[in-house]
Amino acid sequence: MFRSSQFNSTHSAIHVESVSKAYSQSWAKRRAGVTLPPALADVSLAVAPRESVAIVGVNGSGKSTLVRILATLTTPDAGNVRVFGHDVVREATLVRTFINRVSVEASFFKQMSPWENLVYAGRLYGRTGKEIEERATALLQRLGLPRHAVHRPMNGLSRGQQQKVAIVRSLLSSPAILLLDEPTTGLDPRSKHEVQDVVQEMHRETDLTVVLCTHDLAEAEALCSRIIVLDHGKLIGDGTPDNLRTQNGLSPQTTLEQIFLTMTGRTFLEDEESREEAS
Ligand code: ADP
Ligand code: MG
Repeated sequence: MFRSSQFNSTHSAIHVESVSKAYSQSWAKRRAGVTLPPALADVSLAVAPRESVAIVGVNGSGKSTLVRILATLTTPDAGNVRVFGHDVVREATLVRTFINRVSVEASFFKQMSPWENLVYAGRLYGRTGKEIEERATALLQRLGLPRHAVHRPMNGLSRGQQQKVAIVRSLLSSPAILLLDEPTTGLDPRSKHEVQDVVQEMHRETDLTVVLCTHDLAEAEALCSRIIVLDHGKLIGDGTPDNLRTQNGLSPQTTLEQIFLTMTGRTFLEDEESREEAS
C-alpha cells in the first residue's frame, strides 16, 4: 500500500489512519450478486496546520466520503481519524468547532435572502450582530456579490452567487480547517476565479488549513501546495506536483493531467465522457 511520506501523527490538523468505509448496498443488488467496492480502503494521511491540500480523483474515487468523515457527517468503518488530536467519532461535537465544509450543493433557506441566511448562521456560530455585519460585508464585497443580490431571496440567485454565499457563511464561524468539496464545479469562469481568489487570500492571510476536493487539476495546482490522489477509494499519491513527477519517473515539464494519467491510467476527460454516457 502507498503510505504518504508526510504521514505523521503528532501536531497534525488532520490525522487519518487506515480508514476504510463501505456503504451498504440495496437488497436487490446484494441478491443479484453485485458487490460494491469500498468507498475508502485503508487510507492514511496527515495534514499539518496551515497547509493547503488538494484531494483529486475521478468521480466516485472517495473524495466526498473522506470529507464527510472529517466533517463528522458520516463515520468510518475502520481506522482512526483525528482533528487537532480529537477523535471525529467520540468527540464529534468538539471537532465540529474546528471545521466548516462547503459542498458542491450548499443548502440554504431558499426563501430567505443571503443576508438573512448569513445572520442566521452567524448567530448559530455565536457571533454578535456587529461581528456578523462587519465580517459578512467584507467577505461579500471581496467575492464580488452584487449589492442588490444580498437582500433578494436565495432562490433568485445564480449557482455561482449561491456558492459565494456558502463560502462567506463557512468563514463566519472562523474555522481552523476549511473543507471545500468541489466548490467551483459548475461555476462560470469569472465566478470560479473569484471563489478561487478568496480561498487563496483566506489561506494566505489567516491560519486556515484548507482541504480542497476538486476535479479541476489546474485549480488543485494553483490553490494547493500538496496533491493527494485517490483512485477507487485508495490513496495512490501524495506530495507536491514535483514529488509526484519524481515518484512516477516523469520529467519536470509533465503537467498534472499527465501525472494523473500515468498514475491511474485515466484522464479526467475520459471520466467526464463516461459519466455523460451513463447519464
Ligand atoms: P467522489 O466524491 O470522489 O466522487 P464519493 O465519496 O462521493 O466519491 O463516492 C465514493 C463511492 O461511494 C462511489 O462508488 C459512490 O457511488 C459511493 N457512495 C457515495 N455516497 C454513497 C451513499 N450515500 N450511498 C451509497 N454509496 C455511496
Ligand atoms: Mg464528491
